[in-house]
Amino acid sequence: MEYKAGYSGLPLAVTISKLSMRMIENGIHIWMLGSLKTYFCSFSIDMDLFSSLEQFEFCAFASGSSGNCYYIGHPEGALLIDMGLSARKIQRNLKRIGKNLSDIHAVLVTHDHIDHIRAAESITKDHRIPVYATKGTQRGMLSNRFTAQSDTSCFYDLTPDKPLFLAGFRILPFSISHDAEESVGFFIQNSHKRFCLATDLGFINETAAFYLKSANIIVLESNYDEQMLVNGPYPLYLQQRIKSERGHLSNVQAAQFLSEHWHDAISHVFLAHLSKQNNTSETALKTLFDQLKTKGITLNSTIHISALERTIPSPLFRLDGN
Ligand SMILES: [Zn+2]
Ligand SMILES: [Zn+2]
Repeated sequence: MEYKAGYSGLPLAVTISKLSMRMIENGIHIWMLGSLKTYFCSFSIDMDLFSSLEQFEFCAFASGSSGNCYYIGHPEGALLIDMGLSARKIQRNLKRIGKNLSDIHAVLVTHDHIDHIRAAESITKDHRIPVYATKGTQRGMLSNRFTAQSDTSCFYDLTPDKPLFLAGFRILPFSISHDAEESVGFFIQNSHKRFCLATDLGFINETAAFYLKSANIIVLESNYDEQMLVNGPYPLYLQQRIKSERGHLSNVQAAQFLSEHWHDAISHVFLAHLSKQNNTSETALKTLFDQLKTKGITLNSTIHISALERTIPSPLFRLDGN
């Protein structure tokens, strides 16, 4: 396993030897789980704990309340985060970037709202792809009439703060605040890149802040513009739900966080889960650029910042090692 000195600032506040032990333990744990379920699920385990490949691919197939699905991969392995589109749409999006559902090692699930789990039955029953979710999210999927018939032999437990290794990536789920049971965000690394996704969160808690601050590639919710929400069509109870600490992150909250914690290692920022009614890409981006300017942050031409479209897939980003 390759260990880069650049990772020493990460939250694994342990020595390298302890870190290695923990990785090995987790690798074995995953391997044992895998061997039990291999017969039932098309399941493969990478004993290569970190991908030594430099490339990190990212594509958003959809982002927002009508569906969420993100692809991360490298030429030899791939994962999806959330499956909030029909399996047919997911397959179509994969094809567009030269992949298939059979290339997907696993689906990681943030929480059990339908815009994140829509394809669960087909993914588990027809395609036999392992689904990693917290116990709370698994319970939620099985009590949702659209996903209740999912095949639980393809379910694997995610535990916040407990890393796992899949498809050449180290994956760390962390708790976030949202009105679903046991919601998580993800901090995902290969040997060169640190990626953090946090969507559907009412506020940025300490743990989420830690991982967002450690990442090169950030996918952060920027759900609503406060004025548009207050003046828009949503009833008061819904406005209050969205604004609550278990709701969604506003443009200002996302922009303030990013501008306060901006650092030189950030290469990509994707604003995500924008509301159809209460936001536009232009408004979300303007809020962020204004905040960065207020903080005196100048962006060099290599930094990519964009807002992910709700229903239009993003390009495939191939992010190499440096
Ligand atoms: Zn959502
Ligand atoms: Zn949600």
